[in-house]
Amino acid sequence: QAQLSEMTLEKRGELIAAMRKAGIDNAEYLARLAHEETGYGRVADKVQKNLLVSRRTPGIEDLVTRCETGDKGMMLIEQAPFGVIGSITPSTNPTSTVINNSISMISAGNAVVYNPHPAAKRASQKAMELLNEAIVKAGGPNGLMTAAKEPTLDTSKVIMTHKAIKMLAVTGGEAVVGVAMKSGKKCVAAGPGNPPVIVDETADIAQAAKDIVDGASFDNNVLCVAEKEVFMVNSIADSLMNTMEKCGAYRVYGEDIDKIVRTVLIQKDGKYVINRKFVGHDATYILRESGVQFSGDPVLVIADVDRYHPFVEVEMLMPVLGMVRVNNFDEALDEAFRAEHGCQHSAMIHSSNVHNMSRAARRMNTTIFVKNAPSYSGLGFGGEGYTTLTIATPTGEGLTSAKSFTRARRCVLKGDFRII
Ligand code: NAD
Repeated sequence: QAQLSEMTLEKRGELIAAMRKAGIDNAEYLARLAHEETGYGRVADKVQKNLLVSRRTPGIEDLVTRCETGDKGMMLIEQAPFGVIGSITPSTNPTSTVINNSISMISAGNAVVYNPHPAAKRASQKAMELLNEAIVKAGGPNGLMTAAKEPTLDTSKVIMTHKAIKMLAVTGGEAVVGVAMKSGKKCVAAGPGNPPVIVDETADIAQAAKDIVDGASFDNNVLCVAEKEVFMVNSIADSLMNTMEKCGAYRVYGEDIDKIVRTVLIQKDGKYVINRKFVGHDATYILRESGVQFSGDPVLVIADVDRYHPFVEVEMLMPVLGMVRVNNFDEALDEAFRAEHGCQHSAMIHSSNVHNMSRAARRMNTTIFVKNAPSYSGLGFGGEGYTTLTIATPTGEGLTSAKSFTRARRCVLKGDFRII
């Protein structure tokens, strides 16, 4: 990190370009590694995630200098590196989070020590290795990214308490976010979500059905922004579910719903939690393991359930989507707000009523709010804007980028330097 801070910004830009190229060139290789190691998701979608973060994570241009001049002289604020950052990464996007975090953090002049998820350590470490090689080849220092070889909760504690680590970035579930926020260090925390979708009677049903199936089945629903439950107004509910079936969803009924609950969820302390064996697995695998008869090759399971069903309450992280009927838009909004559990993460709406869209955006108060598109368009995939895979919800940085990993420093000069 000390060596990086001595280099010019132009050089830093060249290192970032080399990292992007390594991410693009190895997108498929890393996608396969991640899939082999974790068993989660779909290789083709993981390729897209690796490409997205390599291309659209902002680089050094994200660091904007602020300058003010006046009668008393000049004030300058620049975005400086924190130093060495400790980053804890999830099993659900293991290589794409490493590419994304590394581009953001190194663009800001930092180095990173990772504690990758133990279930995805090899794929995450390979991504670091390839990025490090690209940096060295481009004339940068070796080892800007490093990691515990055998990451455990103990190594994460070492990182969280180490004196030389000035800042933490944590992407994962509630437990790790809670621990990191108590560490006493500056922390960028990207926590869990349970993104609801609202579909009102003014929605373009054909488009809404396709978007929901595409978003909820992408990488088998492991993305934190992915559609996790749907609240649909009664008058369009049947037509929405019928159209979703035509787009690749498989609808289950009655006892089959209960079979899936018993298979993919576990009861713990009176609450349902997910059985990790089914996270990010194919819809067909889930149906088969649950003993449900089906035909074709569905990418998503949908179930017409009540609003308190575990498919609604639990962050499923697998292609199983609870569909809830409501009487009207107001009820949909109340239920969507409740189902999001205050995570303030992501929510979607399908509607052509501008008033409903605005009311939902305001009330949901989420970091990402998507209108009339699949959830992933909120990450810049098929939508406008830059991308990240670390969406800082509780700490408020939102969609992180290089500037999220900087310290603002101010310098003033009295008197001179004005030209007017
Ligand atoms: P996870 O919480 O199981 O693991 C995340 C990381 O935290 C891993 O490296 C793990 O080893 C570590 N960890 C877990 N408990 C810990 C503890 N008590 N102390 C120290 N480290 C601990 O998450 P996962 O299943 O790999 O990923 C899915 C979760 O992450 C979902 O809840 C998802 O919503 C969330 N997520 C959020 C974002 C975001 O940007 N907000 C992005 C991706 C994933």
